[in-house]
Amino acid sequence: MADLGRIDGRTKLIGLLATPIGHSLSPAMQNMSLRERGLNYSYMAFEVGNEQLADVVTGMRALGVRGFNVSMPNKTKILPLLDELSPAAQFTGAVNTVVNENGKLIGHITDGTGYMRALKEAGVDVVGKKMTLMGAGGAATAIAIQAALDGVTEISIFNREDDFYHRALKNAQIINEEIEGIRCKATVYNLDDADRLKEEISTSDILTNATGVGMKPLEGESVVPDASWLRPELIVSDVVYIPRKTRLLELAEEAGCAKAINGLGMMLWQGAAAFKLWTGEDMPVEYVKEEMF
Ligand code: NAD
Repeated sequence: MADLGRIDGRTKLIGLLATPIGHSLSPAMQNMSLRERGLNYSYMAFEVGNEQLADVVTGMRALGVRGFNVSMPNKTKILPLLDELSPAAQFTGAVNTVVNENGKLIGHITDGTGYMRALKEAGVDVVGKKMTLMGAGGAATAIAIQAALDGVTEISIFNREDDFYHRALKNAQIINEEIEGIRCKATVYNLDDADRLKEEISTSDILTNATGVGMKPLEGESVVPDASWLRPELIVSDVVYIPRKTRLLELAEEAGCAKAINGLGMMLWQGAAAFKLWTGEDMPVEYVKEEMF
């Protein structure tokens, strides 16, 4: 309630458009950061699905909001409603942050940079490394594209032959053929090919789970079946942060992996990048970590 006292006639609105929304950590994280920095904005979550999205975006334009986050299920549906996209958002085909620049709505994706920043904060230098990436949904796509842009030289992408498999193929095609000036080779495999997965992990520097396996309703499960697939020097990371320690990270601990990184850092740094885009200021990340993590 302390926030409400700070709102006045000049407060600028930032929103979050998603459903379900109640569990989101973003409103708390963004508002405590705005308050800590003394910035006159307020971040509000709105329960918005695909059906209301176009009307809501028209309303956001009319209100002249500073911007908004977009989360499930709107990250791809928002694209045709915007005026411009950042290069990463174009390649990824998804947007999680919109900035209103004098009436022009510009779409960005900060999930990929957020993930890469979390690795950097954990002391990981990705340049020249090989990554095995499980998943081809929204989070995985952002990670694949940003990893290639940031200097990862080989990515083995694994996905089940479900609705996301074509996106895995598309991500590899974008990395191999469409992004100019990068040296990264991406290959797609079926996640059900356990032998191939084990083999690719054994020659990788980084293993990333960007599927929903490990969080509800798949909590306690891991695509990697046991710790013998992992080795101490392998960097193991998971985009899931509820629970903080997924089954995959438990296995990494069992295997003696020096770096086992959960999705909280990605969540923090994607939010920090959005905060910077809206306000021009750095998020007080140490303060957020103390208060929330
Ligand atoms: P999505 O629906 O776009 O993609 C889901 C992915 O999981 C697909 O690759 C799908 O094939 C795979 N998958 C689903 N069920 C599976 C199963 N049983 N076995 C193997 N693969 C399976 O979802 P998303 O938005 O990419 O989210 C994926 C995960 O990433 C979620 O757990 C989400 O909470 C997390 N996430 C974390 C952050 C963060 O900041 N840390 C940001 C975005 C998403």
